[in-house]
Amino acid sequence: MNLIIMGPPGSGKSTQAKLLAKKLSLIYVSTGNILRKLYEAGDPLGEEAEEYMGKGELVPSELMDEILLSWLDFQEEAPGFVFDGYPRNLENVRSLEKSILHQDPNQVIYIDVPEEVCIKRLLQRAKIENRTDDTPTVIRERLKEYHQETEPILDYYQQKNLLTRVDGCGSIEATHQNLLKNLTR
Ligand code: AMP
Repeated sequence: MNLIIMGPPGSGKSTQAKLLAKKLSLIYVSTGNILRKLYEAGDPLGEEAEEYMGKGELVPSELMDEILLSWLDFQEEAPGFVFDGYPRNLENVRSLEKSILHQDPNQVIYIDVPEEVCIKRLLQRAKIENRTDDTPTVIRERLKEYHQETEPILDYYQQKNLLTRVDGCGSIEATHQNLLKNLTR
């Protein structure tokens, strides 16, 4: 069982992906967290990635895919995954299809939250978590990248009949319940 959680930055997808993974006893995978951990550990690949993350840009697919696919190689025994932040462009989609998963995800859930709400939430998070990619300029860039690179994935999965849209404007718990109600497999 593999699920992909999608949504613009600030939609709450990480929070929801974590809750869902726990509920379904699946492994939570956040590529953003993997990159931040590599950077904090002084890993050269992490340092290369941070140059893009710090500007709100996507890490080049070749680098991202290398990091994620080698991480997945160590997870052969895993019951399944809830992906947060991956895939983020169609190149990632192709790589995932060729990875150890060898199949389409069971379902792709899009957390629907209007952009103004996302921006407010990200600015709020900036105060709490001190993330270098939560400044107003970087947030704008991340949203631009999201529209250009990530949105086309929604059409791709929609055509495959794998996409479900879920309203993410309510509380964390209300959104979690919406997700559970909308699980199809
Ligand atoms: P996140 O924690 O998901 O918001 O990701 C933070 C940052 O990590 C993004 O803005 C990107 O710079 C980078 N990143 C995470 N996942 C990917 C991905 N699949 N492809 C490229 N860059 C990524």
